Amino acid sequence: MSILIYAEKQNGKVSKGAKELASYARAYADKTGDQVVAVGFSLENPEELFQYGVNKVLNVTNDKLKDFNAFAYSHVIKEAVDKENSKMVLISSSNDSIYAGPIIAQYIDAGYVSNVISLPEDSDHFVVKRKVFTSKGIAYTAILTDKKLLRISKNSFGIAEKAVDGSVEEFNPPVDLSVYDEYKVVNVEKVTGKVPLTDADIIVSAGRGLKGPENWGMIEELADVLGAATACSKPVADLGWRPHQEHVGQTGKQVAPNLYIAVGISGAIQHLAGVNGSKYMVVINNDPEAPFFKAADYGIVGDAFEVVPKLIEKLKAYKANQ
Ligand SMILES: Cc1cc2nc3c(=O)[nH]c(=O)nc-3n(C[C@H](O)[C@H](O)[C@H](O)COP(=O)(O)OP(=O)(O)OC[C@H]3O[C@@H](n4cnc5c(N)ncnc54)[C@H](O)[C@@H]3O)c2cc1C
Repeated sequence: MSILIYAEKQNGKVSKGAKELASYARAYADKTGDQVVAVGFSLENPEELFQYGVNKVLNVTNDKLKDFNAFAYSHVIKEAVDKENSKMVLISSSNDSIYAGPIIAQYIDAGYVSNVISLPEDSDHFVVKRKVFTSKGIAYTAILTDKKLLRISKNSFGIAEKAVDGSVEEFNPPVDLSVYDEYKVVNVEKVTGKVPLTDADIIVSAGRGLKGPENWGMIEELADVLGAATACSKPVADLGWRPHQEHVGQTGKQVAPNLYIAVGISGAIQHLAGVNGSKYMVVINNDPEAPFFKAADYGIVGDAFEVVPKLIEKLKAYKANQ
């Protein structure tokens, strides 16, 4: 028996999300004695997954399957499940996996649970802990079907190296490619030269407190010093001060970095819904009553236009002494 992960790629290479799934699968397999198998699509470096406990990588090399298509990819994953006798399938919380999840569940006849944040509990039933109500609550959900599909919440388990001997197999089951005519990617706009928001370990985010788009220089500089991605609140994107792909929150991207720095953001519940999976939250706001302080781990009450430049200066000095 095996545990199968869908190993997504980022610029052709094994993604951070795939490494987290591998780490999760390895930790569970160490308890159950199962093999960990990954299925990837045109992965350039499939061997990297051995470092995170994957025993075998099925690499789909069919050029026609290079671009994501939820139906075609789900079909391949089903073929992999059958071939490897997989009882559990893990997918990440990327947009692609969110789309493919229900299709995979239907193809393999599995109970499907999303937003999973820990390994299955040791209990009579297969029970997993998951985030619910835009991360404001926790639920324990039992899956009673033979096959189980889990969508793991980003950064909830973390990446752990545990090298094993592994093998890579080319895997090209027959696929009905007509699905590409019905649902095809018509355009891909890549954000280049920046840390992708949903993969970022550190995010510097700013809101309407910054007064206008001309003031984002210091936010970008702070992000550069920290090697962070930049994000913003919804009104900032709506006003066109920042691109829409930076909008985080209930109606924007859901992020879960190790460190989230919020500058001039009030902390409305809809904003928090997208960021409260962050490990540490630092809030900079000139209003001591701003609701964000209640959710923050650290807070600085002060004018962003004074605090942020000082923070940049201190961080630069600290880095110069390293
Ligand atoms: C259905 C629905 C969905 C929504 N989805 C989202 C979502 O996904 N994401 C999201 O962000 N919002 C969302 N919103 C909007 C949300 O309710 C808030 O209106 C929004 O988050 C506020 O943005 P803000 O904090 O940037 O602006 P404001 O609420 O205007 O807050 C600005 C903050 O900056 C502080 N400030 C001002 N000047 C300074 C200064 N010089 N230095 C430091 N601090 C300063 C102020 O004290 C204030 O706290 C949604 C709303 C609805 C109704």
